[in-house]
Amino acid sequence: MFSGPGRGYRRIMRAVEWIGSWPVLRQLTGSDRLGLGAAAQSERSRRLEPRTRNADEVVKSVCPFCAVGCGQNVYRRDGQVIQIEGDPDSPVSRGRLCPRGSSSLQLTTGPAREQRVRYRRPYGTDWEDLDLDTAMDMIADRVIESRRKGWQWEVDGRRTRRTLGFASMGGATLDNEENYLIKKLFTALGAIQIENQARI
Ligand code: SF4
Repeated sequence: MFSGPGRGYRRIMRAVEWIGSWPVLRQLTGSDRLGLGAAAQSERSRRLEPRTRNADEVVKSVCPFCAVGCGQNVYRRDGQVIQIEGDPDSPVSRGRLCPRGSSSLQLTTGPAREQRVRYRRPYGTDWEDLDLDTAMDMIADRVIESRRKGWQWEVDGRRTRRTLGFASMGGATLDNEENYLIKKLFTALGAIQIENQARI
């Protein structure tokens, strides 16, 4: 009765298969003569799948970090953002993101992102947690106090109705609408030093 190829034969076939998997052999015998594609790809790389493969949906967005405004694709699964990548449809960036833009996922879900109010008292050396209501009350008290102490009805005989006691400095991750509201609020409070970095 025939029992199939012997052990020696199977060993030889495995050796041939192994030698045939050498990148240089694949490069010399296959179509990828420059070794820039399939010939240089390892078996592990070949089995890799994109992180976005199981996303439920993709939403178009814009990188919030700087004035370039590169296009982003935001991938979601089960209501969570799982990956953010460059948007090939963007005429600005054509699918590219710099290292900062590529790290946008950490901005949304990274463990280093602070979700609590952190406060360091004057002359304090450590940060402490505050609940939001307490922090809001403290800010309101300080705004009122600053206006009371430093309100300028006039400067050099000219009506100003302002205070130099506080200012607003916004970050790049604030969007246009948020900055509009911040500008309205601070102008109404009498501040004149109001700046943001948002360009979107
Ligand atoms: S990806 Fe980089 S260059 Fe593009 S908007 Fe974001 S920070 Fe700016």
